[in-house]
Amino acid sequence: MTKIAVVPGSFDPITNGHLDIIEKAAKVFPEVRVAVMNNSSKNPLFTVEERIQLIREVTSSHSNVVVESSSGLLINYARKVGASVIVRGLRAVSDFEYEMQITSMNRMLDESIETFFVMTKNNYSFLSSSIVKEVAQYGGNISALVPVQVETALKKKFNH
Ligand code: ADP
Repeated sequence: MTKIAVVPGSFDPITNGHLDIIEKAAKVFPEVRVAVMNNSSKNPLFTVEERIQLIREVTSSHSNVVVESSSGLLINYARKVGASVIVRGLRAVSDFEYEMQITSMNRMLDESIETFFVMTKNNYSFLSSSIVKEVAQYGGNISALVPVQVETALKKKFNH
């Protein structure tokens, strides 16, 4: 049986922390689907298409990683693509409560889909898309935090 794992998120934009989680998942699961969630409640910097394009570029060496967008309930997307696992990243204790809430809700919606948590590398535990955007906006050096393609895209967005 092919175990398909979904790695969902906003990825606005993808950081080295996200990439670490995706690469770890790609080592364990035969097929990984990165789902860029089209969440209308957030006000994204990058369009869904731009985010997908960046993720495709930085994961191109992993033949078992597929990147696409999804809107609506994650569980419905997981069912549609035949995934039995959702992979989420954990940074610090502060992530825990939110993740527990989502995981419990997803389990209630579909018991057959399990959520797995991956702990990120220590040096990415403070890293988020929001902090990267904030530093990039004011011209700070983010080269250790995001892939070079993302650094270039951020510079372009902020006209640096
Ligand atoms: P969401 O809006 O769903 O939280 P994000 O794009 O912020 O979307 O995060 C997607 C996933 O990546 C989540 O599981 C989140 O915990 C994880 N993640 C984000 N940043 C990091 C990081 N620096 N290290 C590990 N995991 C991370």
